Amino acid sequence: MLNQSIKILKGIGGKKAEFFANLGVHTLRDLLHLYPLRYEDLRKSMPISELRNDQSAVFLAMVEGFEQTISSGGKKMTRAKLAYDGSSVQALFVHMPYLQNLLKKGEIYWFYGKVSVNGTFRRLFHPEFYAYPEYPNGLGIKPIYPLSRDLKQKDVRNAVESCKNLFSMITDPIPDEILSRFSLISKAEALYSVHFPKDLEEIERARFRLKFEELYLQQKKVFEARLEHQLEIRKHFYKPLSEEELFSLFEFELTASQKSTLQEIQRDLDGELLMRRLVFGDVGSGKTAIAIASCYLAVKSGFQACVMAPTEVLAKQHFLEFSERLGETYRIALLVSSEKNKKKLAEDLREGRIDIVVGTHALIEEKIDFKNLALVVTDEQHRFGVRQRKHLKEKAKNGADVLSMSATPIPRTLSMVYYGDIDISYLTDMPKGRKKVITRFVDGNDQKRKLLKFIYDKVKSGEQAYFLAPRIDDDEEKTKSSVEKMYHYFKSIYKDFSISALHGKMKAEEKNAVMQNFKDGKVQILISTTVIEVGVNVPNATIMLISNMEHFGLSQLHQLRGRVGRSEKQSYCFLTTSKPSDSVALRVQAMETCDNGFDIAEMDLKLRGPGEISGSKQHGFERFRLVDYSRDQDLIQSIRNIFSAKK
Ligand code: ADP
Ligand code: MG
Repeated sequence: MLNQSIKILKGIGGKKAEFFANLGVHTLRDLLHLYPLRYEDLRKSMPISELRNDQSAVFLAMVEGFEQTISSGGKKMTRAKLAYDGSSVQALFVHMPYLQNLLKKGEIYWFYGKVSVNGTFRRLFHPEFYAYPEYPNGLGIKPIYPLSRDLKQKDVRNAVESCKNLFSMITDPIPDEILSRFSLISKAEALYSVHFPKDLEEIERARFRLKFEELYLQQKKVFEARLEHQLEIRKHFYKPLSEEELFSLFEFELTASQKSTLQEIQRDLDGELLMRRLVFGDVGSGKTAIAIASCYLAVKSGFQACVMAPTEVLAKQHFLEFSERLGETYRIALLVSSEKNKKKLAEDLREGRIDIVVGTHALIEEKIDFKNLALVVTDEQHRFGVRQRKHLKEKAKNGADVLSMSATPIPRTLSMVYYGDIDISYLTDMPKGRKKVITRFVDGNDQKRKLLKFIYDKVKSGEQAYFLAPRIDDDEEKTKSSVEKMYHYFKSIYKDFSISALHGKMKAEEKNAVMQNFKDGKVQILISTTVIEVGVNVPNATIMLISNMEHFGLSQLHQLRGRVGRSEKQSYCFLTTSKPSDSVALRVQAMETCDNGFDIAEMDLKLRGPGEISGSKQHGFERFRLVDYSRDQDLIQSIRNIFSAKK
């Protein structure tokens, strides 16, 4: 029953069902799970004579009559005279021809709305009204639901109301023992209270119970994953290798945290269980070196390794870097969707004629098999789904060691919730000689002119620049046009520079060619969407100009800025907006003052605030609806304890 479409409810036809679908509500079950955003306490009503200007209020009144007029602009206006106990108030409605069928003369209603008072004249504009006989005890506490276009609070309330007797069908995913240990009410009861609360305490209790459930189920999964890992016994063994040899793969001195991370990895590979390590390192902290050294450990022991990256641009870049460092001794291949010779490649992999394969999602395809895959590396792991990573891992017949890397530093509080006991390494220091990227907000024509001149001089002197256009909600067409617009504009003002555009609508080969030209310095200014967001490494690029920054979250801005500042040259990040607002100002301030990805991630979490659950989306996690990391630490801990006690 609960899985039936909401279309079976009275009054929900095709169009309305669509509006509900926009809220994620398809079935009756979804509807029962549509949590109100907030509540309005309409329990207290007041006499008309006490209504105050500009205040929302509930009052009881009788409809005494109507007056219809046409405004000078041609609008149909209906004025209803409402009165009670000798005081009166006017309710004004525009374009409501059916009003008199809904609001009946001579009957008594509860009215709710914002009142304007001018001397003794009181008026409300489009108040809500409820027939008194249906609500003899007052309006109670009204849930306010999230809405989508053309859907009204009343629609949602009516729909939920008509499902009142379905709540008892909801089964409880939390075992009885836990319910009683934590004195929790049943799920059915909690959901019912969320929609039809008697008082504020009941709302609290119900929301707590549902929040508990979110965390409980999520932690259960983390716990199960951990159990599963404890069964992953190592069946392939690496040859020991000295640190000196490993570290000498690079002509530069590894940073302290690169070294300690590699030591941890060596210890993992020497352990009884397969490795499951996640490396968090801010943009530019040198994660690729970690990947290269780890793969070296595998191939040196006679195994195959594979590296998966989220974009072709990135896979190509890694392929080149791997080839440069290991290509003389080992056979390295690139596998991306645009690759023509996949068949041959697949065969070489299966026969063990390739040692390291670097690629995109194309690696996950069924036809790709390995001879003796031992190590799986995923770069920018948050860009892949759990299932994709698992698929890749399963290509190793004896089980694979897994190393994941992410440049989206996740606050520790979050990583505890999501990763449980997975091993995490943090790259906390930057390679030597890096200068802090100077970040400035650019506003007004005068500053913009100066900026254009500044960029001109820099590029003239041989440095390169990224100009970023926002991605507007996956709307490729619009994005493309904004990139193209910028492209033509800058073409016309920077006549002596070579400028190229890069966006998601382009074919992989075109993208690769543009990227390669930019790397080679043949393209001086690259105008792009966030295609370049992850991983791209062009040390000679020193300028990042982000236009319409209002479209980007703080963490994303930081990621983008990380494309520059990759050499010893001074780099710059410029931000502009066409929509100034408080939240833009906060992001600007954070960007100007802070260059540490962890602090940025914490701030991002705060800026987004409770409700919009805390950046979990950009980490590729499922979202919590009620949990607020910063406030629910104690609850998180006690739920973790439920599972760790079971160990
Ligand atoms: P990210 O962590 O963002 O993936 P990369 O691995 O792309 O960073 O490294 C950024 C740049 O820094 C590359 O050019 C890389 O060769 C260089 N690099 C990495 N580690 C060091 C180091 N210890 N010293 C100097 N340069 C380094
Ligand atoms: Mg990288």
